[in-house]
Amino acid sequence: MCRKIIGDKMDLIIGSHVSFTKDTQMIGSIEESLRYGSNTFMFYTGAPQNTRRYNIDDTLTKEAFNMLKDNQINIDNIVVHAPYIINLANDKNYDFNVSFLKQEINRVEKLGVSRLVLHPGSHVGLGEEKGIKNIIDSLNDVVDENTKVNICLETMAGKGTELGCTFEQLKQMIDGVKYNDKIKICLDTCHIHDAGYDLNNFDDVLKTFDKIIGLDKLSVIHVNDSKNSLGSHKDRHENIGYGYIGFDNLLKVIYHDKLKDVPKILETPYIEKCPPYKYEIEMIRNKKFNDHLKEDVVNYK
Ligand code: FE
Ligand code: FE
Ligand code: ZN
Repeated sequence: MCRKIIGDKMDLIIGSHVSFTKDTQMIGSIEESLRYGSNTFMFYTGAPQNTRRYNIDDTLTKEAFNMLKDNQINIDNIVVHAPYIINLANDKNYDFNVSFLKQEINRVEKLGVSRLVLHPGSHVGLGEEKGIKNIIDSLNDVVDENTKVNICLETMAGKGTELGCTFEQLKQMIDGVKYNDKIKICLDTCHIHDAGYDLNNFDDVLKTFDKIIGLDKLSVIHVNDSKNSLGSHKDRHENIGYGYIGFDNLLKVIYHDKLKDVPKILETPYIEKCPPYKYEIEMIRNKKFNDHLKEDVVNYK
């Protein structure tokens, strides 16, 4: 049944943020993503805002692997997002951050997932240089030659003292890590727009990215519109086509020739507590803006 939704559209690798609960683990995540017509997804292994985490249940994971196969979902395209409260830029909780991140990597590897998105961190007044040094030091303590998962540092909006809001800063972080073949990038369209990169000229942005970091590092794309104007440093996501980036600009990112193999993940806001992803993905596959999307989402039973 679900295979029909995906059908011949297997070329586009698209999904959304989905939930992951203690009792169903990845099985629940897969079921949810199939309801949206996705062929990949992203989840947190617990609540995003805290570091309490469930043990990974091997029986559920095995069952999930079979489900993935049955539904032609490639596990290599699945993404886990690390909780956003760990802040590697602040050395105050250094030991906790490092040990938490190590455990998170273990969980992710146990799940067979290979892409872990991580916010680089906020320097909280320590300054850019010290903040970046702290991030590099922590990553060097976490990543070694045996690390299987790729840590994808996310491009940030530059809210408060957030680091990673320029390609140069991210490049500095990558360069500082010894085993940096394991360090990749997650590009968030809302965040780069809020950081001042103009998606009206996405080809130029991508060229700049390639020159500074290298396109081969681009491993995940978060597709979100933005509630705020270019360079606002706000980080407030909007539904696809309803914000300042706009539908056509986001389509250019999603269907870009050079980004074909990069999973695209929606993290757009729920509408009156209803997930918008089924409708947004439909609109993206149809390449046609749905100007009553928000009503459709709320009215869906
Ligand atoms: Fe994020
Ligand atoms: Fe994001
Ligand atoms: Zn965000």
